[in-house]
Amino acid sequence: MSELKEPKRYLVTSALPYANGQKHIGHLAGAYLPADIYVRYLRARKKDVVFVCGSDEHGTAIPIQAMKEGTTPQSIIDKYHHLLKENFEAFSISFDIYDRTSNPIHHETAREFFTYLEERNELEIKASEQYFDEAANTFLADRYIKGTCPQCGFANAFGDQCEKCGSTLSPEELIDPVSTLSGNPPVKRATRHWYLPLDRHEAWLRQWIIEGHKDDWKVNVTGQCKSWIDAGLQARAVTRDLDWGVKLPPKTGEDENADPDRSGKVLYVWFDAPIGYISATKQWALNHGKDWKPYWMDPETKLVHFIGKDNIVFHCIIFPVMLKLHGYIVPENVPGNEFMNLEGDKMSTSRNWKLDMQDFIDDFINKENGGPQMADALRYYLTTILPETKDSEFTWKGFQDAVNGELVAAFANFFNRTFVLMHKLTGGKVPKFHNDLADEKDRELIEIIKNAPSRIQQLLEEYKFREALFEVIDLSRRGNKYMQDKEPWIKAKDPEAGNNQSSIENCLHICLQLCANLSIYISPFLPNTAKKMCQMMKVVDKMLDWENAGSVKLLSVGYSLRSPALLFRKIEDAEVEMQVIKLKKGLEESKMQQEETNNKLKEAETPANSLKTEIVYDDFDKIDLRIGTILHAEKVAKADKLLKLEVEMGMEKRTIVSGIAQHFSLEALVGKQVIVVANLAPRKMRGIESQGMILTAEQPDGKLILVNPDTLTQPGSQVK
Ligand SMILES: [Zn+2]
Repeated sequence: MSELKEPKRYLVTSALPYANGQKHIGHLAGAYLPADIYVRYLRARKKDVVFVCGSDEHGTAIPIQAMKEGTTPQSIIDKYHHLLKENFEAFSISFDIYDRTSNPIHHETAREFFTYLEERNELEIKASEQYFDEAANTFLADRYIKGTCPQCGFANAFGDQCEKCGSTLSPEELIDPVSTLSGNPPVKRATRHWYLPLDRHEAWLRQWIIEGHKDDWKVNVTGQCKSWIDAGLQARAVTRDLDWGVKLPPKTGEDENADPDRSGKVLYVWFDAPIGYISATKQWALNHGKDWKPYWMDPETKLVHFIGKDNIVFHCIIFPVMLKLHGYIVPENVPGNEFMNLEGDKMSTSRNWKLDMQDFIDDFINKENGGPQMADALRYYLTTILPETKDSEFTWKGFQDAVNGELVAAFANFFNRTFVLMHKLTGGKVPKFHNDLADEKDRELIEIIKNAPSRIQQLLEEYKFREALFEVIDLSRRGNKYMQDKEPWIKAKDPEAGNNQSSIENCLHICLQLCANLSIYISPFLPNTAKKMCQMMKVVDKMLDWENAGSVKLLSVGYSLRSPALLFRKIEDAEVEMQVIKLKKGLEESKMQQEETNNKLKEAETPANSLKTEIVYDDFDKIDLRIGTILHAEKVAKADKLLKLEVEMGMEKRTIVSGIAQHFSLEALVGKQVIVVANLAPRKMRGIESQGMILTAEQPDGKLILVNPDTLTQPGSQVK
């Protein structure tokens, strides 16, 4: 082994996913699957290892998502925390703990961290002026300010970005800013913020990363660090004025709200989130009666952060500085992955070009012919295309080829063939090995089996999971080739001739030992498959311990084994085609939604009092307006804004879908009279045909009211 000294224990982390939405398989391949493979391998080697992760539940994006979904930040984090936890379980990601940063133990840990640094003068305080909403009595973080974009003149740009032209903005740049909370123009107020002066640590970082880890860290990781350090490190704000997050602790000895300058501030999410690894370890230790401290303080612990490339600077520069200042250990390695593309394009949640973990669970795992074998099938394909050194690409055809051509045709086929022949030719029992009659091919394969573990182990230690998996599959190919050369089924036709029966027994004996070895090697990658193989071999999972790897005596002679069962099913063409269609449809839908948003933005830009273009009477006369009475109102499934109304029109009843759900309660509408545009061409919305439109008027605060006759009127009456 290349490793000089074995660490006493391991602490492995996967990037905390942000609890504001679904996560896709690119995320899974970036930080979770590789970490899980590594941890499962360490466990098989009986190492002391703790694998921690959890939901990142702070930052402005959470309250903003809550506004979008019309709910509270708490219900957003609850919803996505549980969803993500279940998603990871479905893919057999074996965290020792999946915690969350809303856990009180985390708030406590993060505040202690801040206090520790503050008391040792490792933070700087800087005064600045920031926008303040006097009516709401709060400072305004970037997303809480709107104004005119200085770049394109768009009237509803946010304090951090203009959604129309895409420019990155600061709140100070907005023309005529207003608070989105009260609608009032904000005032400037003096505020103070705490900063982590990264520039003080440049020399150490350069030494540690660029010199110290130039050989064992990935080139893409050290490269990104070097360009950050070379550009000059800046002090980074640790606090911000916001009410969602970890509250800034009071000065030691002071009461919680003694200092008005400190209340109303929270720790910046980049500061509190990585501390989540420490608090998750504490929670794990608490649950299991262990001590968390050695995992973060003993230099003989090997700390490894698995992340995607967007997180490199936080885990290689900023968090290590924090850890070092607090006297904790720094990471031994940060295997940052590049990105995974999908069918020729970048995966993107906003453009809906993605495959969420939940989608795969719904379409493959939670199906009758699915289950854990499909979770393993995805784990297999993702591992073969891990973006370890450069961006990689997921295609549905690639998924099908990997499963059908490699998993089924090579790996599962070897296992299945061996079991079928063993039942047919050696009575369902492990046959004897005749050493004196072993030929060159037998000895060659035995040699290969004995040499396999060191090569696979080295690749796993070097975080080269793709290559390690290729070695395993290659081993099964060699088994197939060996069996093809030995042709036991031909020899079985004439068992009396020569040493035919002994040759058959030798062949199946070696193949069975190889099957047992394969179950050990495949276990970190495809844990469910390894278990199934153990069941068929009638051995306990303990056989999967790494110390058994390379042995050709794993299955005892005379031991009877189960009948073969298929390890994997094939992926059908129709399944692949369906997924590609679904993907393209999703993109279309998101484009349509984007257009709708753009139109709304355009409308919002048009001042309410400016009139539309002049028309002549004939234009107006084309519109057929009628009085109608609302008989029934109900919500439209999966559409927050839409209501389905049934409207009495005198001669007929009409179904009208109207985007007014957020302005009226259902009860308030029933029985009300309205004015209906009766000759509007029917239009399908969410699968329902809308046969007309009802008129509403917009009040200054944006609220809609119905426009109706001042006395009860016969439904169907014309409005002129
Ligand atoms: Zn703009």
